[in-house]
Amino acid sequence: MKIAGTRILVTGGGAGIGRYLAEQLLAESADVAVLELDAARCAELSAASGGRIRVQPCDVSDAAAVDAALQALADAGFEPDVLVNNAGIIHSEPLVNMLSRGERVHARESWQRVISTNLDSVFFVTGRVVDRMLARRCKGVVISISSIAANGNAGQSAYAAAKAGVNALTRTWAKELGAMGLRFVAIAPGFIDTPSTRAALSEATLARLQQQIPLRRLGELEHLYLALRHVIENDYLTGTVLEVDGGLVI
Ligand code: NAP
Repeated sequence: MKIAGTRILVTGGGAGIGRYLAEQLLAESADVAVLELDAARCAELSAASGGRIRVQPCDVSDAAAVDAALQALADAGFEPDVLVNNAGIIHSEPLVNMLSRGERVHARESWQRVISTNLDSVFFVTGRVVDRMLARRCKGVVISISSIAANGNAGQSAYAAAKAGVNALTRTWAKELGAMGLRFVAIAPGFIDTPSTRAALSEATLARLQQQIPLRRLGELEHLYLALRHVIENDYLTGTVLEVDGGLVI
């Protein structure tokens, strides 16, 4: 599939990776829409793109909100050919915090929030978008931003489980819907140099991590865009998890 002229929906496109991907796709003449939680971010992104990115406020972990947002986009003439499930939150919490004087076991609230934002959202948005693609006989592509944490990452039970779920859904849907011409691919970044990464990790941790990465550096946003473009353009790619991590998981 060519990028120019293709209608591409990016969730969580108001900041970080999603915003970069949305702006790069726009620069390559895609017709881009974004679902974004934060209303102020929505207004700012719309203004920054000169109104060329269609921005729809939406909490993608709320199925009813997703229905309303997709209908609003459809009413404005936008039906996605490509979906990028990017919205997510990174959360670290040990299964048992042995140093805590209060509750020691991983909180149920944070477990549910992380699963809801990172996994339920992918299930809700993909089901609805694919239903619309099938009705239009569109041979669309669904790309979900996973993480190498899906392989297991100490201190990230909920996040690792959610991203492993995203990988499982990607493979399941590739098998289930391949005969209809639909493709499903996950992109699993390692450590990408974003504000959210720098907010989550100390300088010392980042320096130590870089020594463990075979290429000895963090990834750049551009590396993820190159992967995304490859997945959109290569019509024989489906059911796979593309790790963009400088070799960290080998
Ligand atoms: P980010 O900077 O925090 O951006 C996430 C975006 O998603 C924000 O615009 C956020 O909006 C939005 N969002 C969050 N919850 C949402 C919801 N319920 N509904 C709609 N939008 C929502 O994070 P990022 O680093 O770019 O991460 C993007 C994706 O990449 C995530 O899936 C993450 O797990 C994955 N990832 C990132 C890295 C990395 O190194 N950064 C590595 C591996 C995987 P608000 O800010 O307004 O809440």
